[in-house]
Amino acid sequence: MGDTMGNTDESGVIPLHGPDGRGPDGHRQRPPHAPQPWEKTDRAQAALEGATGPEPPAPPLCPTCGLVGDRCVTYYGWHVLLEPDLRMPAHRVPPWHRWYVDSDGTAWNSRDDEPAPGAVCRVPHRITCPGLRLQEPGLHHRPPTGDTPPGPSDPLPRAG
Ligand SMILES: [Zn+2]
Repeated sequence: MGDTMGNTDESGVIPLHGPDGRGPDGHRQRPPHAPQPWEKTDRAQAALEGATGPEPPAPPLCPTCGLVGDRCVTYYGWHVLLEPDLRMPAHRVPPWHRWYVDSDGTAWNSRDDEPAPGAVCRVPHRITCPGLRLQEPGLHHRPPTGDTPPGPSDPLPRAG
């Protein structure tokens, strides 16, 4: 902490616009909380890929088990909590859970693309989370096994 730059007011208000940042489009100012047209898509993509990690400034902790994850930002701005220092052969990781981190630290999900032979990927913390199971009720909704649902192949009750 030998930094004596005098900028100790980091928690202060950061000006959003520079004094001379007004260009020809300076009047086109977006309301701060207006829904953006792509927000819904990004949210759906984040949910699909599991990029639902805690967003900064929250600490990169798993909300379920409390372990520290390796939080990376995605190209659509959401954050994913990757399992730290864990690299897996990509073909052993289920589709939609294969993550790659570019050299600038941005993470991306290869979705259901077939991994290249020998490819190594990262995995999201949530598939290794001790507090979560992939077979959560709700993710795979199945009727309880004790209850046999009526199906077309069911034999009709015999009349006799
Ligand atoms: Zn966890």
